[in-house]
Amino acid sequence: MSNKRGRLIIVSGPTASGKSTLWRRLVQREGVDFSVSATTRAARQGEMDGRDYHFVSAEQFQSWIDAGAFLEWAEVHGQRYGTLREHVLQSIDRGHDIVLEIDVQGARQLHKCGLPLVSLFVMPPSREILEQRLRGRGTESEEQIQQRLSIVAEEMSYAADYQYQVLNDNFERMEAEVEQILGYRKEVL
Ligand code: 5GP
Repeated sequence: MSNKRGRLIIVSGPTASGKSTLWRRLVQREGVDFSVSATTRAARQGEMDGRDYHFVSAEQFQSWIDAGAFLEWAEVHGQRYGTLREHVLQSIDRGHDIVLEIDVQGARQLHKCGLPLVSLFVMPPSREILEQRLRGRGTESEEQIQQRLSIVAEEMSYAADYQYQVLNDNFERMEAEVEQILGYRKEVL
């Protein structure tokens, strides 16, 4: 057991940027926890309560807001999402880093919270490659592709709010860069 305090590791980025693959890899490490958020949205197929999210009613969520249970919370696509204060403090007090996969509004609040943190914004390689990937999947109509691309452009404008912008040109390279930023990897790339 370490007496060094852990850090919050904030991971954000547009859809299809590779942020989910990245945080899933990070939390496989010993001493790196995942912050299970609370949300008012319904569970999707395959999601498990307590593992992916704490799925709660709007009333429960509001009572947690009133009780000050959230370190941050935000409304995304009409649903509420929040980081539970106690869970995060428990991790960092025992010297663990804790990964938060949250949106830009949440990251803004946490930059001001005074806790030790590292914030990462995962950038997809380029609009062209993202477009190719979306077209390659062949699951979206042209209109849907254009709509997704316009959202990505807006999301990218928030990248500057983060301490680090990491480019996912190649996943292994990006992962190594992130490990170095976090001090998990000692050798210089
Ligand atoms: P989804 O419903 O697809 O799981 O997540 C939708 C959005 O909510 C994503 O951008 C995700 O990063 C964000 N999100 C998930 N949990 C939290 C949270 O606790 N706080 C904030 N601010 N955003 C969250």
